[in-house]
Amino acid sequence: MVLKEISAIEKKPLKMTDLPNPVPGPKEMMVKISVCGVCHTELDEIEGRIQPKLPIVLGHQIIGRVERLGPEVIKFKLGDRMGIAWINSACGKCHFCQEGNENLCLEFRGTGYHAHGGYAQYTVISENFAYLIPERFSDAEASPLLCAGAIGYRDLRLSGIKKDQTLGLFGFGASAHIVIQVAKHWGCEVFVFTRSEEHRNLAKKLGATWAGKPEDEPPKKLNCAIDFTPVGETVPHALKVLEKGGRLVLAVIRKRNSIPPLDYAQHLWDEKEIKSVANITRKDLQDFLPLAAEIPIIPEVQEFKLEEANDALMLLKQGKIQGAGVLKICD
Ligand SMILES: [Zn+2]
Ligand SMILES: [Zn+2]
Repeated sequence: MVLKEISAIEKKPLKMTDLPNPVPGPKEMMVKISVCGVCHTELDEIEGRIQPKLPIVLGHQIIGRVERLGPEVIKFKLGDRMGIAWINSACGKCHFCQEGNENLCLEFRGTGYHAHGGYAQYTVISENFAYLIPERFSDAEASPLLCAGAIGYRDLRLSGIKKDQTLGLFGFGASAHIVIQVAKHWGCEVFVFTRSEEHRNLAKKLGATWAGKPEDEPPKKLNCAIDFTPVGETVPHALKVLEKGGRLVLAVIRKRNSIPPLDYAQHLWDEKEIKSVANITRKDLQDFLPLAAEIPIIPEVQEFKLEEANDALMLLKQGKIQGAGVLKICD
């Protein structure tokens, strides 16, 4: 399913297209794709809020099996089940890369953004940017762990949350419903803010102490908060209910509208912080996948066919997917 031009998703811009099979370079593998998750970032790409290199095959939550090896591959063998995530490559030499902040590398390349991704039968990936998948997950269950899960884990890590502290989650989609499970595992108390009653009920089922609407006052101040919503208004709401010295993490790549003016005394005074999260590192995935298997976190998924990619993304835009949407590509 190829994106050739920026367009509203309602116009169904992804088109089924025949492309030649990709050929792996010396350290690359050709992967036969089993499933690929759908993500809000794809909507940002399709609708032009971020600019992919066109034409592009989208998709960065890929589970597949190694079908062809480049001559220098040593970390994987034919038939291995593996995952590919948003980080497709980074230079490995700059100071960001050397300090483990490869997500900030100037040569960072995103899967399904700079390089063709997983809305397809085959793709290629360097052996250094692929991950073995713990056995306890099915292909469809593992897929959302690669983005919604691993990026959620990064959001949670960057929030600086500690055991026994209070965490607020604004928005309760695919990422948040994984984050709550990790936070509970770490002994945190979780408060969920969402407009959807269905999502509030799911939050309580997954262990939230309290669930309310985005502008509601929680019973306790929040040591940390993560904003998963695409709207600017959430930022002042979240800052207002933050504890002194608390940190708000912004998890989305772009907000659909601007953040309203902040009141310094009410929103920022008392050492409150705001931090955004960009991309993901390999270490996030290497740490998160085994942790998810240990807890265990089994994502709820709703499956679609590859040719239904436009419809799946439209439902995602309308907030109508329960858990995570996954395209099933082959058995
Ligand atoms: Zn994603
Ligand atoms: Zn670099």
